[in-house]
Amino acid sequence: MQTRVNTNNGDDLSVLGFGCMRFPTKNGIIDEERSIAMIRDAVDKGVNYFDTAYIYHNGKSESLLGKALSGGYRERVRIATKLPPFMVYRLEHAQKIFNNQLSRLMTDKIDYYLLHMLTDRAMFERLASLGVMDWLESIKAKGEIDNIGFSFHGSKTDFEDIIKAYPWDFCQIQYNYLDENRQATKSGLLLAAQMGIPVIVMEPLRGGKLVMNLPEEVIQAFRHFDADRSPAEWALRWVWNHPEVNVLLSGMSTEEQLAENIRIANHVQPNSLSEEELQVFDRVKKILMEKTKIPCTACGYCMPCPYGVDIPGCLSAYNDKYLLGSRNVRLRYMQTLGSLSARPANASQCRECGKCEPHCPQEIAIPKQLKIVAKELEGPLYKPIAAIARKVLRINTPKQS
Ligand code: SF4
Ligand code: SF4
Repeated sequence: MQTRVNTNNGDDLSVLGFGCMRFPTKNGIIDEERSIAMIRDAVDKGVNYFDTAYIYHNGKSESLLGKALSGGYRERVRIATKLPPFMVYRLEHAQKIFNNQLSRLMTDKIDYYLLHMLTDRAMFERLASLGVMDWLESIKAKGEIDNIGFSFHGSKTDFEDIIKAYPWDFCQIQYNYLDENRQATKSGLLLAAQMGIPVIVMEPLRGGKLVMNLPEEVIQAFRHFDADRSPAEWALRWVWNHPEVNVLLSGMSTEEQLAENIRIANHVQPNSLSEEELQVFDRVKKILMEKTKIPCTACGYCMPCPYGVDIPGCLSAYNDKYLLGSRNVRLRYMQTLGSLSARPANASQCRECGKCEPHCPQEIAIPKQLKIVAKELEGPLYKPIAAIARKVLRINTPKQS
């Protein structure tokens, strides 16, 4: 298993991390026997980073991981788990959750502890105002956690705000060949690296979409270069090709997926994709682009929008709905386009000022398309639902409505 050193603390981390949100299930609950066998097999083959969360598998993931790592496995790995901000309204809530996590994981220390799914700086500041960051520093000083980080789903601007808001030990972002210009984006990855903050990558296969829902032409483009390399291998190698990525998390549900990922992780090297291989990705992205409803290349020339609209983000979310048949597209749209942040970036924020349109090399009628996006991905219930979610999450009301 290849490893990459966390330059912050010298941890030699396996390039493949085990994401514990998609364990095999039987009759709707975790298949314990298979999951434990997979976890132990992964450790025996060199995986030493396990990423879980308080809420994964309805709260059962941490307990399963704790059980699997008992009997001598715990000492061989790093455990990452997360504090769910939406369950924390007083400091005692966070403390109670943390103690519960130690008990579920059968450990006295969490190696990597994250604030889960931060979407903007206001969310971080709310937790800080409750004393959460001071408390995390105090338990870090006591050795109950080793590293303080955050996982992120939001817009590029919000990522830049959050990463600069606190001296983080590490961060976790969504990154794959289709999301190079979405969410934290490549510039976010490079910014983290420049700041010396190790990056853990999640969703390298977009929740399986880059394997299961690909158009036949894309599969053929991959096969034309190498008949034996699967779409999953292409996607994973693309992420690992970035030297700035410390660990890639894969939520493995079968023994076959684990075996394939370990095989790839055993030999993959940063900056190892050849010019020809990178051209295959260019072709694949071009095919996917041609199949998209709106030909946005996410170049960003239309940005910034004076009203805060994340134009490429909105258009990309709309395209995904048709291209990859993404489920939960509305929920993801709400989450990643800033509707749950103090600065919403969703399509209906557009005031049709027209500033963006002349800059678009694809000649997209941006305000008109944003209206369609808003109609299809927002609809009449969007604002009330977003308002309730914001209230629950204690997010400040946006200045513009
Ligand atoms: S037309 Fe809409 S999206 Fe474009 S800059 Fe103006 S407000 Fe922003
Ligand atoms: S300028 Fe056009 S192609 Fe580029 S991000 Fe904006 S809408 Fe997309």
